[in-house]
Amino acid sequence: MPVSFHLCQPGRGASCGACCGLYNFRDHSRAALTERLAEQTARLRAVPKEAGAYRAAARELTESRREAPLFPAVRVCPLLGFIDAEQRQVGCLGHPKVTGGVDLRDCGVYRASICETFTCPSFGWLDDAQARLVQAACPDWYLYGLVITDVEFVRGCLRLIERELGGPARPEAMVARPAVLDAVRRLFALKETAADRSPYAAVFGRFTPDTEGEPVSRTINYARLGVRSAPEDDVVLCLGYVSDDANRLIAARERVRLHVRAVTRALMD
Ligand code: SF4
Ligand code: SF4
Repeated sequence: MPVSFHLCQPGRGASCGACCGLYNFRDHSRAALTERLAEQTARLRAVPKEAGAYRAAARELTESRREAPLFPAVRVCPLLGFIDAEQRQVGCLGHPKVTGGVDLRDCGVYRASICETFTCPSFGWLDDAQARLVQAACPDWYLYGLVITDVEFVRGCLRLIERELGGPARPEAMVARPAVLDAVRRLFALKETAADRSPYAAVFGRFTPDTEGEPVSRTINYARLGVRSAPEDDVVLCLGYVSDDANRLIAARERVRLHVRAVTRALMD
């Protein structure tokens, strides 16, 4: 069953701007994105809420970008920003609810009608319980967007938990138990915290740009590394590890395994 609620602004701290190009940079660290969003927010808050001023500001913001998009074929919208004073919620600064009534989304990189109706694949590929688990475990704009849009990562983590448990893992039961939810939060937070990755490699999760700038899925060359595949490898790839070294791959698997075991230990307590 597809998700029955809106994934973009589900509340309780979670919000997402991934399809507006939020993470489409080599350096998609929290610090770099916070700086960019704050700059876009400050610029757009200062201009009159009308199309001419918004278009000019959007052009300036795009031209002054310090880094080119990682995937040139994927658009990055300068109208994305923080829609609350505390900088905890990412969202569209051209949306009528943010501008005070006027729809300025045509001044961004898509037509407003596309922004209004677009739903990413997570709407169809995650179910309600999985999406609620992500929302509860990632109550912040940076991590939520990284995880909710990575269906392979969410499914891969749940598969590993089930493998460790030797039976089904129910996401709704995980949400209901604070200690379990904390452990799931630390597992999902590996998207931000996992050590020993190459932070500025041309990768986003399991994707890298092809010659046209489109995202293509990466794989692990087991023959070249001289190792066999392992159940953790899907998650390891989703975390953005560049597996050019067998020892690094083995260490990354172990990191994932430890976090999965922490979840199953909490479930069995
Ligand atoms: S990537 Fe998906 S969840 Fe995120 S804002 Fe876009 S449509 Fe919504
Ligand atoms: S105008 Fe569209 S693409 Fe740009 S931030 Fe708003 S919703 Fe995203």
